[in-house]
Amino acid sequence: MLVFAASAAAIRFTRFGGGPACLWFATAILIVELVVRSPRAWLLPVTAAMIGGVVATGQFGIGYGYAPLVTACTIGEAILAAWLLRRGRGSGADLGSLRGVFLFIAVAGGIAPAVSGIGGAATIALATPTGFASNWLSWYLGHALGNLTLAPVVLLALNGEMFAGIARMRLARKLEGAGLILVTIAVTRLVFGQETFPLLFVPLLPLMIAAFRFGRIGGAITIVILATIGATFTIGGSGPIRMISGGTYERVLFLQFYLATAVVMTLLIAAELNQRRRLVVALRASEARYRLITDKSTDIILTQTVAGVIDYASASILPLAGYEPADLIGIAAGTLVQSEDLPIVTKTIRDALANPAATFIVEYRGRKADGTMLWCESHTRAITDEDGKVVGTVSAIRDISRHKQLQAALAQAAQTDPLTGIVNRRAFDVALDQRLADVAAGRGIGVCAVLDLDFFKRVNDRHGHDAGDRVLCTFVDVARRSLRAEDLIARLGGEEFALIIWNADLAEAHAICERLRRKIADLSVTTGFGEDIRFTFSGGLAPLRAGRSRQHILRHADEALYRAKNAGRNRLELSS
Ligand code: GH3
Ligand code: MG
Ligand code: MG
Repeated sequence: MLVFAASAAAIRFTRFGGGPACLWFATAILIVELVVRSPRAWLLPVTAAMIGGVVATGQFGIGYGYAPLVTACTIGEAILAAWLLRRGRGSGADLGSLRGVFLFIAVAGGIAPAVSGIGGAATIALATPTGFASNWLSWYLGHALGNLTLAPVVLLALNGEMFAGIARMRLARKLEGAGLILVTIAVTRLVFGQETFPLLFVPLLPLMIAAFRFGRIGGAITIVILATIGATFTIGGSGPIRMISGGTYERVLFLQFYLATAVVMTLLIAAELNQRRRLVVALRASEARYRLITDKSTDIILTQTVAGVIDYASASILPLAGYEPADLIGIAAGTLVQSEDLPIVTKTIRDALANPAATFIVEYRGRKADGTMLWCESHTRAITDEDGKVVGTVSAIRDISRHKQLQAALAQAAQTDPLTGIVNRRAFDVALDQRLADVAAGRGIGVCAVLDLDFFKRVNDRHGHDAGDRVLCTFVDVARRSLRAEDLIARLGGEEFALIIWNADLAEAHAICERLRRKIADLSVTTGFGEDIRFTFSGGLAPLRAGRSRQHILRHADEALYRAKNAGRNRLELSS
């Protein structure tokens, strides 16, 4: 019935010179009816529309002979448009996105009426004395404009959006909407009700306001108001469009372009606004999630711009590093890094900016608010905008001080002798290699000495293992005190020790060791049972020489020690 009424009205009131109707709303109704249904349910509305169209055309238009053909063209147009819209959007048209609106304009205002116009214009050309070309243009413009003007409002009504949207509004919004509709009617009525001034731009203002305030629902309703009032006056032969020269045909053509411009503009603006609104809602949700994570996280979340300026720091930076997050905004992120680690941190940030798909990890020393150091491990990724352009980085920064302390303690333990607290054989080997490299590079001279306590087995046998341990510790204490800071004493194992006497030639090193030998020989260690233990050591000395290996030096020192033992112990021997 709607198709019949719309077709009959269009044929009755908008046909000029025997061609097609200039404003054709019937197809829009059918397009929407088909778009909101699955194609399996298309038969009923298509049949009903066919009947309505044929009766209207037969009764008021080109007669029953050609009516089925020309109606088939309009119904074919609706089927083509609905099929393309459903294909493009999954199901139905979406006027809430720019993409959806572009698709709608291209299909309902372009492809579908242009294609149906071929058959429609040809049929009308056969039935009447009009020409194909002018028929096609009238058909295309009338149908495109009718589709674009009416389909949005019908679509929003049929898919429930309009009523749901209005039901959600508070009373004040409803009143505002009703007021806006009245203003649109009044303004449009005033503009089209006079023939003195070409004020056609004025009704665009309430249309824009409606689109801004009420989105596509506001846009769709005011478009229908503009089209209805504009068409009524213009086709009725009055209104400002009368000012242009030419007949009714030219005036209606002008009105069509005028309405088409207003419709496309309003739909696009409403869609863009809606897209933004959706984006803001999504952004707010994402922001809330993000805040929940960062506020509860013990890691510091920090974002910075491409230029390295902090634009966000999470709350955990206060307990961990002593900074108020708000105070850091706008500050160069590099100021939070100790200067010696700045190069690796800067490189990591640069790598992250250059490879947006990857996460980069770096350990560095951070600078706390009180100036002290904090060991940090940061995982950094680039942040990209919606075009994939890199706009900054986000870092999750973890306090690894305790991990570092443990690492240091383990490293320390791995090179320390637990009984005496001096370095072990492994660390001594490293130190000796380093000193040999120093000698080879001309950075100094030095001597290696290997010392072995004399008859230590007897000490253990006579006084017990604990007393033996005490003797070993006493020896280390005394030896350490007779060495300088740049010298090194290590326990090679058992009761065997090694020294590196640095910045001393063989004679000076000999003198140092000799002093130690006499001190030890004069010493007596008291046991728990009041007994005194006296002990001595023997030593072999070998100078560090450029080009000699560690093994070579130690063998020579050992050989000298062996000679000292054989020569009666409690003495030193030198190797050349
Ligand atoms: P020499 O003068 O020929 O060096 O005779 P020595 O008895 O010192 O030689 P030997 O190498 O046979 O004996 C070393 C002894 O040192 C054997 C072992 O019981 C003792 N010893 C090794 N490590 C420790 C230790 O950590 N604590 C104690 N108390 N004794 C140790
Ligand atoms: Mg010994
Ligand atoms: Mg020994």
